[in-house]
Amino acid sequence: MRVVLLGPPGAGKGTQCKRIIEKFKLVHLSSGDILRAERAAGSELGSQAKEYMDSGKLVPDGLIIKMMVGAMKRAGGKYVLDGFPRTVVQAQELNTALAAEGEKIDAIVNLQIDDSVVAGRMTGRRSCPVCGAVYHVDNLKPKIVNKCDKGCGELVQRKDDQPDVVLSRLSTYHAQTAPVLEYYKNAGCKIFDINADNEIDSITASIFKNLCNI
Ligand code: AMP
Repeated sequence: MRVVLLGPPGAGKGTQCKRIIEKFKLVHLSSGDILRAERAAGSELGSQAKEYMDSGKLVPDGLIIKMMVGAMKRAGGKYVLDGFPRTVVQAQELNTALAAEGEKIDAIVNLQIDDSVVAGRMTGRRSCPVCGAVYHVDNLKPKIVNKCDKGCGELVQRKDDQPDVVLSRLSTYHAQTAPVLEYYKNAGCKIFDINADNEIDSITASIFKNLCNI
């Protein structure tokens, strides 16, 4: 099963992906996580991506497509794409790469949510730089203020969760990523629209119900 999870930054794609991969035995391919790992490893790709990521801009298509097509090949046809494709060019290139292997995307899960809600979610988010665990200052508090529950140490606010960068990421989303949905609609792809301004468990239930039927 090949699934694409679409939605603005902060819509809960990462959380829902973790649940989807467990339920359907898929691999989670998050372009943002892969880029962050490249940066942490100090790779050439990581240093090329840094400036774009820290200002809320998109990393150039060429770099991302190569990185993601390689990750998809390693995942062997069972994956959820999270954060990719993020431009129509990426969607077209993904389609070409899949078609060359006689494959296609089976479904798009489209998380729908207002900008004001996601802005609050992102600016309140705190992350553990050691284990990657994610918390929220209001909705998902760590046991001790600003400390990771797993004992790793201080939590941080990711640079791209800072208010000015959040605004930039949302405007990038509307300008460049929202058209990806139109692309998949025009291509006749199966699209499941999910209300993402809801309890986490009920969002998961709606996603599972739809994916069970493909
Ligand atoms: P995310 O964690 O998915 O919000 O991604 C964090 C940052 O990584 C984004 O703001 C972009 O700078 C970069 N990024 C992630 N995925 C892509 C992509 N598909 N195309 C271009 N840039 C990306």
